[in-house]
Amino acid sequence: MSYNITLIPGDGIGPEVINAAKLVLENCGIGFNWDVVEAGENAIKKYGTPLPQNVIDSINKNKIALKGPVTTPIGTGFKSVNVTLRQIFDLYANVRPVKTFKGIPSRFEDVDLIIVRENSEDLYKGIEHMIGDDAAESIKIITRKASERIADFAFKLSVNEKRKKVTSVHKANIMKCTDGLFINCTRKIAQNYPEIEYEEMIVDAMSMKLVLSPEKYDVLVMPNLYGDILSDLAAGLVGGLGMVPGANIGLDAAIFEPVHGSAPDIAGKNKANPTAAILSAVMMLKYIGEFSAATKIENALRIVLENAKYRTFDLGGNTKTSEFAQAVVENM
Ligand code: NAD
Repeated sequence: MSYNITLIPGDGIGPEVINAAKLVLENCGIGFNWDVVEAGENAIKKYGTPLPQNVIDSINKNKIALKGPVTTPIGTGFKSVNVTLRQIFDLYANVRPVKTFKGIPSRFEDVDLIIVRENSEDLYKGIEHMIGDDAAESIKIITRKASERIADFAFKLSVNEKRKKVTSVHKANIMKCTDGLFINCTRKIAQNYPEIEYEEMIVDAMSMKLVLSPEKYDVLVMPNLYGDILSDLAAGLVGGLGMVPGANIGLDAAIFEPVHGSAPDIAGKNKANPTAAILSAVMMLKYIGEFSAATKIENALRIVLENAKYRTFDLGGNTKTSEFAQAVVENM
């Protein structure tokens, strides 16, 4: 059996970490036919757009993509490739597992969270405009449909992964309509899953509690913007952005990508930590049902992460991206 997968290397450190993940996947005992397509800065140079039609066509055909980060210029320029892809394929659930690994320097030992971020609406709808020169407006959209389906996704995931608690994160004390609707929906869906504990937490308090005692939390479900911010915060609890993978899941397609961005400060130096990209590949394997290959990679990765000899620079060492990937392959 071999799988047709759309491979989007991205830009910045994207091609480096995606190559690392590809090398590991190619040695896990499963066949892949890669459809390599360009998005991001390289695509702008070649096609005049960061998201050429062939990327969309390829995902449409294969339904599964492994993607590296792409640069999104701040304040100007093209619409975000990520937001556009999530909207085109209705990838409504963004799943970001945040876990401590033995041997990795971090302030906590037993963090094991899953952030479930609503991925299709909120302020990311991109409905914003200037009002004259001195004011601007951005419209936050929260719908019952999207809120109920992300809540249901979070509870189903909790059941499947044998999790105990779902925390719904919001700011409904201030945004009484939008976030009020969001928690009403998560509260309603919670009733269908009596075996899972349910609680609600205001996003500012949640931020403090996560940095004080992250081990007390399990699955967190939240609107788009809070999910974006809190997942970077949570990455900081387990060794940094190089450690956290992600999946964008819809009913018909899924895109797997690390949480981190294109990291222009370290791009092209073969020094990025490929763990997040490799773990994103592991999430992809689980999604397609290849559990033993996923476990094989996870175990090898754990061995390498425990070995102080293999530390990328973000974790205090000088192992190169490609050397790290090779070490994972050798331990599989
Ligand atoms: P970033 O995640 O690229 O980098 C933040 C910091 O973390 C940097 O110091 C970087 O060196 C470090 N870092 C990130 N990944 C690392 C890794 N694998 N190994 C070691 N260190 C790592 O965030 P940013 O600098 O805010 O964003 C850069 C660009 O990436 C922006 O254009 C942003 O829009 C884009 N971005 C893209 C995605 C995506 O494509 N999914 C996600 C986030 C940001």
